[in-house]
Amino acid sequence: SMYPPAMDREDVPEVAIVGGGIIGLTLALGLNKRGINAKVYEQARSLREIGAGVAFTANAVRCMEQIDPRLVTALRSVATSNGDPNNPNDHLQWVDGFNVDPEHPEDEKLLYKLYAGPRGFEGCHRAHFLDALLKVVPEGVLQFGKRLANVVEQDEEEKVKLEFEDGTVAEADAVIGCDGIKSRVRELMFGSENPVSHPTYTHKIAYRGLIPMDKAVEAVGESKAKNQHMHLGPQAHLLHFPVANQKLMNVVAFAPDPEEWEDSKTFVAPATRRDVEKVFAGWGTTVRSIVSLLPNDLDKWAVFDSSTFPVPCYNKGRICIAGDAAHAAAPHHGAGAGIGVEDALCLSALLDKAASVIQDDKASKSQALKLAFITFNTIRRKRTQWLVQSSHDVCEIYEWNHPKTGSDPDKCFEEIRRRSHKIWYFDYEDMVRESSESFEWRVVI
Ligand code: FAD
Repeated sequence: SMYPPAMDREDVPEVAIVGGGIIGLTLALGLNKRGINAKVYEQARSLREIGAGVAFTANAVRCMEQIDPRLVTALRSVATSNGDPNNPNDHLQWVDGFNVDPEHPEDEKLLYKLYAGPRGFEGCHRAHFLDALLKVVPEGVLQFGKRLANVVEQDEEEKVKLEFEDGTVAEADAVIGCDGIKSRVRELMFGSENPVSHPTYTHKIAYRGLIPMDKAVEAVGESKAKNQHMHLGPQAHLLHFPVANQKLMNVVAFAPDPEEWEDSKTFVAPATRRDVEKVFAGWGTTVRSIVSLLPNDLDKWAVFDSSTFPVPCYNKGRICIAGDAAHAAAPHHGAGAGIGVEDALCLSALLDKAASVIQDDKASKSQALKLAFITFNTIRRKRTQWLVQSSHDVCEIYEWNHPKTGSDPDKCFEEIRRRSHKIWYFDYEDMVRESSESFEWRVVI
């Protein structure tokens, strides 16, 4: 960027990011790299990610490279490729975990196989990735123990005020809510009575756990254990992929739940291996072996999303939302974090543009920031809302429940391929170009 790191330059915008999850930190690095003064306010006392895996597509990693190469260094320091590390297997595989030959119940039929591109699927332990990110976030950027209560947008000429639950306040020229599925910023934008302010229950439970890889290899063989597999069946499915340098197998098992989820404060509750065993009782040997290796006590996650009540827009004045705060998707595509990384690239590019416009006196700070957020909403809404919907639909396809595809394997595969490719092969350079042009055009008129 043309700007020096510019803490005290009057004309450089100050941006407050609410939430220090994957997207908040990614965006903070992108802004920092472009000389924009960004601060992250995180409610937790320290960053404690959950003991589970997260995977990124090659495309999401390339977006990280554009945002700030430090992100890729952080990810690569903890990422694990599929298969043999020296000879990565860049295919994703869907297998029938339910209908097995009674003579060979350990054999699963390969249903579909998709090439995801070079290093097309890299998994990591969430806590390890966040630790690696924290190491590269410059000192003074992230503040813990700051739970946002309120945002007050004052006069055009004045800064936006953030009020925290500990009674402290902060000011910024703009506020970006990266505060996740239960976003307070979103609630402040739309009002707590509005259904778009709250995610809804998808009636799916995700059981998540990590299994020592040596145990998994013993149980299901090396090639099954060390490569990503999605095991499909009626009403449920189970995904696993290697993390922690092939030392752990990350497992996510999805099951239906006809009940309501009563506790709106938390989406996590304790569960036992027995619960998961019941779900997969009639399945093939491979799936049951994997389940049998889960720890006795685990967590279950109620899957909520924003597919029923999508927000009408991502911006309001100098406030905007990104990542899960704007578009919380169920995890069936495994793409929620990846698409949030695309948001962070878009915002980094737009705020860089806004900073030049402010410096060149072509618009006031508040005008430029508002226009940047209007542009962000225009560019990002369609694709991100599509992901929310598709994540819901693809679960039905996996479980042979979708009216369009039923249990027809060819139709299911065609849909899975089309949707996966739309996620994996996104032209982010075009997105950046279009964002810049659209922003400039708005500044001129
Ligand atoms: P979050 O990670 O939720 O972070 C929000 C942050 O904001 C938190 O640190 C929170 O403490 C903070 N916060 C909240 N409220 C406040 C407040 N009022 N004040 C201050 N701070 C606040 N995605 C993938 O790309 N690949 C995968 O393989 C994948 N697997 C998944 C598996 C499961 C079972 C689930 C549930 C999701 C999965 N996802 C995956 C989706 C991914 O986890 C999310 O899309 C991603 O974590 C969203 O990041 P975020 O930073 O927007 O929100």
